[in-house]
Amino acid sequence: MKRILVTGGAGFLGSHLCERLVEEGNDVICMDNYFTGSKKNIYNLIGKPTFERVRHDVTDPFKVECDEIYNLACPASPPHYQYNAIKTVKTSVMGAINCLGAAKRTRAKVFQASTSEVYGDPEIHPQPESYWGNVNPIGIRSCYDEGKRVAETLFMDYHRQNDVDIRIVRIFNTYGPRMNPEDGRVVSNFIVQALRGEDITIYGDGTQTRSFCYVDDLIEGFIRLMNQSATVGPMNIGNPGEFTMLELAEKVLQKVRGKSKLTFLPLPGDDPKQRQPDITLAKEHLDWEPKVGLDEGLDRTIDYFRSVV
Ligand code: NAD
Ligand code: UDP
Repeated sequence: MKRILVTGGAGFLGSHLCERLVEEGNDVICMDNYFTGSKKNIYNLIGKPTFERVRHDVTDPFKVECDEIYNLACPASPPHYQYNAIKTVKTSVMGAINCLGAAKRTRAKVFQASTSEVYGDPEIHPQPESYWGNVNPIGIRSCYDEGKRVAETLFMDYHRQNDVDIRIVRIFNTYGPRMNPEDGRVVSNFIVQALRGEDITIYGDGTQTRSFCYVDDLIEGFIRLMNQSATVGPMNIGNPGEFTMLELAEKVLQKVRGKSKLTFLPLPGDDPKQRQPDITLAKEHLDWEPKVGLDEGLDRTIDYFRSVV
């Protein structure tokens, strides 16, 4: 039995990961400060003998004896990470240092949840891991993008300098049950608005694209990356199916059979125009590719939101 620490374990992705790791017979410690996460996400795990909760902020040092660490602590939706931009930088940078320090002390393997945002507003399409990105260092998204880029730097430096066993995943937009309905990300916003009969808020003209990965596919990719040793990453995990926000809105409205109208709002600063993962490396090293298409994934996610909205 492995003892595994998951930071951000009460969040959307963290709760799915904790569930999967407990199911596989591991002893799981979920660390969270509940900024964007919720105990509701882990209700089904609380009380299990192999699941333990710790309320702790990753920016504060901690000591833990464990075999593996998955570092997911960080607000992920633009309104939440921009709410306290300085805290977001601290969470990424100091959180990475604290996790790497713990991994160095205990010789644990440590996994960083990085992001497609390291590519910024990409000039290469689709984005391979070898692309260095096009990131504004001083804009409103920089606290998140640059924080995650420094975290990747720290992971690689601890690996080269101190021989810490690391893995880095670059996550592309992921959706599914347990997204916070008020979180502000596009999939949850559109579904909640359609279910409530409110206007669907399209930022800009809606022609910008994203590639949406269903949460179960992503978690499978995490586990496969962690459990192989051919590469430490960084590795893209995402679904290459690419859609405009107008296409996404139409799909959601059709599925919910909603009568909402589209309303066009200003595009937030530095909003990337396009994004699609090149998943050649994941196919090659992990024998991984996504199995759940957008239609099926949206059906499952809409079912979830019907039960909570
Ligand atoms: P989320 O906001 O639901 O989860 C983040 C969790 O981290 C929450 O439970 C939150 O309370 C916790 N947290 C935040 N700051 C903390 C701190 N200082 N100390 C302890 N806990 C803290 O978001 P998510 O979608 O589950 O994202 C999880 C990770 O994956 C994040 O690191 C995010 O950057 C990364 N990621 C997610 C996506 C996506 O599409 N979901 C895409 C790219 C990267
Ligand atoms: N978006 C939108 N309406 C919303 C929320 C988001 O049109 O109500 C757009 C946003 O401008 C971006 C895309 O949807 O172009 C994805 O936004 P999200 O916040 O989900 O993720 P990110 O921009 O970080 O990829």
